[in-house]
Amino acid sequence: MKIASPRGTKDIFGDEMRLWHKIESTVKSVADDFMLEEIRTPIFEHTELFLRGVGETTDIVQKEMYTFMDKGDRSITLRPEGTAGAARSYIENGMGNLPQPVKLYYFGPMFRYEKMQAGRQRQFHQFGMEIFGSPKPAADAEVISVAKELLERLGIKNISLKINSLGCKECRSRYNAALKEFIGNNLSGLCEDCRERFEKNPLRVLDCKEEKCKTILADAPLMLDYLDEECREHFDELQEILTAMGIDFEIDPKIVRGLDYYTKTVFEFVAGNIGAQSTVCGGGRYDGLLEEVGGKPTPAAGFGLGIERLILMLKADGLDEGEKKKADIFVGSIGKAGSIKAQVLTLELRKKGIAAECDTMGRSVKAQMKYADKLGVRFSLIIGDDEVEKGIVALKDMSEGTKADVSFDEIYGKIKELS
Ligand code: ATP
Ligand code: MG
Repeated sequence: MKIASPRGTKDIFGDEMRLWHKIESTVKSVADDFMLEEIRTPIFEHTELFLRGVGETTDIVQKEMYTFMDKGDRSITLRPEGTAGAARSYIENGMGNLPQPVKLYYFGPMFRYEKMQAGRQRQFHQFGMEIFGSPKPAADAEVISVAKELLERLGIKNISLKINSLGCKECRSRYNAALKEFIGNNLSGLCEDCRERFEKNPLRVLDCKEEKCKTILADAPLMLDYLDEECREHFDELQEILTAMGIDFEIDPKIVRGLDYYTKTVFEFVAGNIGAQSTVCGGGRYDGLLEEVGGKPTPAAGFGLGIERLILMLKADGLDEGEKKKADIFVGSIGKAGSIKAQVLTLELRKKGIAAECDTMGRSVKAQMKYADKLGVRFSLIIGDDEVEKGIVALKDMSEGTKADVSFDEIYGKIKELS
């Protein structure tokens, strides 16, 4: 019986792997330049962390978590996002005692039991960052500039930044009352999900993707009209900094983000070329989260950026994966002694940093040379009994078509000299 991979998962290999490597190294270089430190938290956590850290009324907690009881009867959940784990780690490891801000990044798989559609997987990957300790809009701007820089270094063009402010708890509760009244008056026209959301968290209704709901909600009161003075100033200053940084943005008062813990700034980078699931990166400020998961009140901001959607964008832009790494030399052989010598020599060259290949299939010389051709090697040689005995071998430069007799010890130097 053939066993397929579980729905919503994907193998990453071959040509696509090179794209991943390119993204990973670009992430690393951006993180280094922005002085972010990598953090690797466990892939599973106590379910409680996400109930509190993501929020009971979110889609993630309501429908999308991979939750199970382990053999010790603990409720465990595969992480659906990275922020809750990073926040837990910050608290648990006393990072509040380090010089602030603490700037962390992560790169790894996330798990959500989603309905299958383009741009949605059940195991997907995120690059994300968190900046703990600063309440200032400068920190929000720093977070946004990291995502922006990554997109820029990868050569992504067709993307726009949308920002909004959700205010603080006090602004939110005044806005919630106004929103609740508006939705209450329009309840019959909304979808079933929205009617349910209305009871639990009216803000969530603004996130609905259904056309009929969107039409009704076009007239809903806007959060931005309910910001108090401090939240207003925070939002204005963020815009001032972004403008000074030369980062274009658009204010979109409808952005509420999927997670419950956001306060003040929220933002999204939205792609113009990958269809309906177009949000590649989402983030914002979450000043209430650390307290929510058991820490001291600590201001924080961050984002999560979906790697698979980033790859969809890169592919839509026609960006290729780059050239596959070629072997420098193929060490061919005839007979048992030749083949052992070839394998030993190959190992020696590899230890010196030469990408070398030899036959491990027991192929004929002719078949070996055909294979060497496919590898696109620059150099090749063939070791038989004679070569083993004399210690001299003909090194062929495939691009020039020339041959030179060299001793085994001279091969490395000759390759270095010619390439
Ligand atoms: P959406 O509105 O698409 O469901 P979200 O609000 O659930 O997004 P976040 O939790 O903010 O998304 O995650 C940040 C990013 O992670 C998204 O912008 C997206 O690029 C990526 N992402 C989220 N869920 C998935 C998924 N199921 N498959 C692939 N990528 C995803
Ligand atoms: Mg989602």
